[in-house]
Amino acid sequence: MAWDFSTDPDFQVQLDWVAEFCEQEVEPLELLFPYAVRMKDPKMRALVMPLQAEVKQRGLWAIFLDRELGGPGFGQVKLALLNEVIGRYSTAPSIFGCQAPDTGNMEILAAYGTEAQKERWLYPLMNQEIWSAFSMTEPEGGSDPSLFKTTAVRDGDEWVINGEKWFTSAGRHADILFVVCTNGIYIVPRDTPGVEVLDEPRTHDHIKYKDVRLPLDHLLGPEDGARLLAQRRLGGGRIHHAMRAIAQCRRAFDMMCERALSRQSHGRVIAEHQMVQGAIADSYAEINMLRLLVLWTAWTIDNSSTAEARTQIAACKYTAARVLREVTYRAVHIFGSLGVTDLTPLRQMWAGAPTMAVMDGVDEVHKVTVARNVLQGYRPHEGPWPSEYLPAKRAAAREKFAAAMAADPDLERYSEAMLRRASRH
Ligand SMILES: Cc1cc2nc3c(=O)[nH]c(=O)nc-3n(C[C@H](O)[C@H](O)[C@H](O)COP(=O)(O)OP(=O)(O)OC[C@H]3O[C@@H](n4cnc5c(N)ncnc54)[C@H](O)[C@@H]3O)c2cc1C
Repeated sequence: MAWDFSTDPDFQVQLDWVAEFCEQEVEPLELLFPYAVRMKDPKMRALVMPLQAEVKQRGLWAIFLDRELGGPGFGQVKLALLNEVIGRYSTAPSIFGCQAPDTGNMEILAAYGTEAQKERWLYPLMNQEIWSAFSMTEPEGGSDPSLFKTTAVRDGDEWVINGEKWFTSAGRHADILFVVCTNGIYIVPRDTPGVEVLDEPRTHDHIKYKDVRLPLDHLLGPEDGARLLAQRRLGGGRIHHAMRAIAQCRRAFDMMCERALSRQSHGRVIAEHQMVQGAIADSYAEINMLRLLVLWTAWTIDNSSTAEARTQIAACKYTAARVLREVTYRAVHIFGSLGVTDLTPLRQMWAGAPTMAVMDGVDEVHKVTVARNVLQGYRPHEGPWPSEYLPAKRAAAREKFAAAMAADPDLERYSEAMLRRASRH
């Protein structure tokens, strides 16, 4: 009997330490210096680096990476449990060396990079000496990769990149850009001539690549490997986002419950009104359903591969966005007027739900993936009736019992009486 929902006690000690560390150290830093983790200013580094050093000392740095890729090799289930804690704080992933978009970029560098590429980019990324961005989506449309037009053309000893990318997260702060071209993924140092970061939008950048010349060794993986590498990268990223969405849901849920016990209306605390209880009960069930889906998916990855778990990862992606939307909306609502201000994190968390439904591929595309993959396990029924058509099944059952009924006519009478009775209900 192998089902077990408990956490290894040694790892629980780590998780308890992480929870306390985040509350005592990470949250105060985040409240006063929300962008410190992405700044190279020495004063900000002096605030951030001691916290990162503590994390490294605990062996919790870059825990998303397998041992053979240079990480501690905890696997996805432990990562999920850790993300459930650190996902409450937007800057915590950077303190633990597992921040997007660097995580996915490190993963493909570790998996597909040459030794020289790893020396040059992976290890500095792991140490946050440099930062990266992933430049795939194009202005004409992000959901359909066949629309992407950015090209890399070989010219002697160089690649020449031309194209335009949209919504490259943290692109303007990145030292290197992983640029998805029609024939592969290329690593482009941001200061290469021809890279132009436009003024708007500010956080997710619009970047033009015009005659950007790169040495041949800046191609990552095989020349036609863009799709393969992007899938590997995004698969990991999606499940990590879903893990952190659980943390956001729980934070909203904790706030909702505390508030429900603290406000009075119409002669009782609002937690005693049935509709508030309904909101709490639905949220409780939905968060736990999401959590089990994510942990099951993490377990599947640990026991097979990201590719094998593709259907589950897609289901996690849109389920996380939906549960986050529902739970944070209920929490905002239960907070009443205070909920719609910026005096609590709730409103921002609620706004995160539509973002989650779009980033890493829109929900519709993932639903198509799930439906298509699931349907591969089914066949159309033969003839006009579905396989669960009861008269046909009953006729088959009658054949199975034919000999017994012939030997004992009582059985026939019992069966007819029971079926008559069942049809009346
Ligand atoms: C916060 C955030 C961070 C991001 N970071 C990055 C990044 O770092 N790098 C990067 O390259 N990209 C990034 N993206 C871009 C993201 O990958 C795209 O936004 C996403 O793929 C959707 O593309 P689009 O915005 O062009 O929407 P569109 O493709 O224009 O889709 C718009 C809408 O059309 C409908 N639709 C589209 N396709 C289908 C379909 N097949 N079936 C049914 N309906 C459909 C859906 O309702 C969808 O929401 C980020 C996005 C967000 C929100």
